[in-house]
This record gives sequence, structure tokens and C-alpha cells, in this order.
Amino acid sequence: MNFKKRLMTPGPTDIPPSVLAEACKPIIHHRTPQFRAILTEVVAGLKRVFRTNHDLLIFPAAGTGGMESAVVNLCSPGDTVLTASCGNFGNRWTAIAKAYGISTEHYEVEWGQGNDPKEIEKRLAANPGIKVVFTTLLETSTGIESDIRTIGDIVAPTPAVLVVDAISGMGATPMKTDDWKADVVIAGAQKGFMIPPGLAMVTISSKAWELAKKSKIPKYYFSWEKAHKSMTAEALANTPYTPSVSLIMQMAESLRLIEEEGLENIWERHARMARSARSAMEALGLKLFATGRPSNAVTSVYVPEGVDGTKLFKTIRDTYGITLAGGQGKVKGRIFRIGHLGYADDWDIVAAVAAIERALYEQGYTLELGAGVAAAEKVLFSEK
Ligand SMILES: *Cc1c(COP(=O)(O)O)cnc(C)c1O
Repeated sequence: MNFKKRLMTPGPTDIPPSVLAEACKPIIHHRTPQFRAILTEVVAGLKRVFRTNHDLLIFPAAGTGGMESAVVNLCSPGDTVLTASCGNFGNRWTAIAKAYGISTEHYEVEWGQGNDPKEIEKRLAANPGIKVVFTTLLETSTGIESDIRTIGDIVAPTPAVLVVDAISGMGATPMKTDDWKADVVIAGAQKGFMIPPGLAMVTISSKAWELAKKSKIPKYYFSWEKAHKSMTAEALANTPYTPSVSLIMQMAESLRLIEEEGLENIWERHARMARSARSAMEALGLKLFATGRPSNAVTSVYVPEGVDGTKLFKTIRDTYGITLAGGQGKVKGRIFRIGHLGYADDWDIVAAVAAIERALYEQGYTLELGAGVAAAEKVLFSEK
């Protein structure tokens, strides 16, 4: 049997039909009032999702492009920055900074845990020269969330600028940019925003602009100043170079869906799917990888003893049609991850749990078929 395909990775994610349809529309020229009106509306809608009044820029790029833009616009050679990492994506901040000759104080917690705000406080106090604190809202590689609100309260009174990678968290779990005093927040297209990959969004506070004015790293395509000038010079937004016209049109439709459902309802849907997935995995006797604040967008689970993780992943994808994610970096092969992010609902969780059960059973893992599904449904339907 050919099963229906479900993309349950923490990016890219499945795309709603009405968003897909936008990509089939005839292309329009970007220097027209029609396109610029759409872009203006998209920027306003994105600011509502980011919960911000800060400036918001959009670059045609992978999320990592948005991260790189933060490094090149905020830093200068010889600066010291603090990277507070919980996993693979937190480590990317250090890698980008190093590529530009920035000296990084790298603070990495044990994978599966979230950042310890107290440690960030201690390090900022010990090194008042730190210009920027780079961190991650939702560490997709381990499935953990960090307490950005508390980190924001710690960084705000210091001279350092707080930069948050919210690429997988935005639109899935609460991120209140202005309330939480996050100076620069980055999101991507292919996660909670439910559109194909290729856009990076960046918000910039006045504190971040002050630092950006002093930045001495050479930049051109990713210059915030150039992008901001185009965005704000006239009543309708504009971009310095050709924007991803179709992706922006898809984003407009996606934002319409987000407003229709309501951002708070969307956060609650993700939280419910995550609780359900965790409960199901535990009912099957599996061990969860993330401890403390497990994420709302992705559930990470240890591959149990005696089970071949690669085979498990392949069976679920190639036989049962559901693409999950494996482990990255140092937990490759040791964990698998269920993405429940963006265009995902309760039945996707039930389907994923059922497929995981079957694939485990086929490898001889001892379980009671249906126990995971029962636990998943108990959470999904008793909470409504
Ligand atoms: C997906 C992801 C990225 C990278 O996004 P790309 O679009 O692949 O560059 C960075 N950080 C986090 C937390 C992510 O989930």
C-alpha cells in the first residue's frame, strides 16, 4: 500500500493547500504597487507574530543567512561575544562568529538540557566586554526550549545585545520579542510559517541598531542598513534586490491562516501535540531525550536498546509514509525526533505514534500494540 506522505520533521514542514496554491499564481514584478502592498502587509503581519514593534527585515535566504546577518551587522573584528548553546544550532552561532574572526566565549550545556540563565548572568558579570549574547529559543537538534524571558531580563541592563535564533520556535511556541527584551530575533520560512524554505526574517531593536552602527565587518547582501532603507524610505515597503516574490505571496496567505486560527491557539495546539507525543512515547517504554522544558515543536526520543535506529527511521518513512528526523551531531543514531510543527494536527500525532509502534514491533521490540496510540489520544481528547 502507498501511504499518504507526511513530513513530520522540524523543518521543512507540510504546507497547507491554500499556501501551496499561491506559488502557482503568475509572477508579478517586484517594483510594482501590487507587490509592494503585499510586502507591506506581510511585514505588518510578521511583526504581530513576532510580538514586536522593532524593525523587521526579510532576506531571501535559509534561516542561517538570517543568523549570519546578525553576526556581520553587529560585530567587529576583535570583539568578544557569548554563545549560549544547547545543541547543534546553538553551536552554529559559534561557527559563524569564528568564521568572521570574532572571539567567542562558548557556553554549551549538556545536550537535552536548556540554557541556565544564571550561568549567562555570571559570565556577563565576569566579562563586561561581551558585546553580544547569541542564543536559541528552541534547540531543534535536541528538542529543548530555553527561558528567553529570564535571559532577556538578565541581558537588558548590560551593554550586551541579545540575539535569539527563533527559527524553529516562532509560530509554534511563545516568543514575545519586545516583552522579553530580545534585541534581534531571527525566524525562517519552512518551520512554523508553513511555507517552502527560502526566507529569513530578522527583527532589530534600537539597542541593536546602536551596536550595528559601529560594526566593522565588511558586508553587502546582508547589510541591514541597505535593507532597512528600502523597507522604510517610502510608504510601501521595498527591497534592495529581487525578493522571493512567490514566497512572499505564500507568506501572506500563511499569515492569513495564522490570524484566522489565532497565535495563542496555535501555541496551545503545538503544546498539546507535544504533550501527546511525549505521553505516547513513555507509554511505549521509550525514554525522552529532552529534560526540563521539552519543546512544543519537536519531541526527541532515545532509540531503545536492541533497535536499529536507521532501520526504524527508514521503515517509518519508506513503508508508512511518515518522514521523521534522526539525531544530529553527537546524538546521530542515538535519538529520533518527531516534528509536530506548523501545518500539523492531532491526527498527525496519532498517525506518527501508530507508525512508530508498528515499526518498533516489527523489529521485535516488546510493546503492546495500541498502547502508544491510546496514551496519545488520552491527552489529545481529554484536554479539549
Ligand atoms: C532549522 C534551524 C536552523 C537553520 O535553518 P536553515 O534554514 O536550515 O538555515 C537554525 N536554527 C534552528 C533552531 C533551526 O531549527
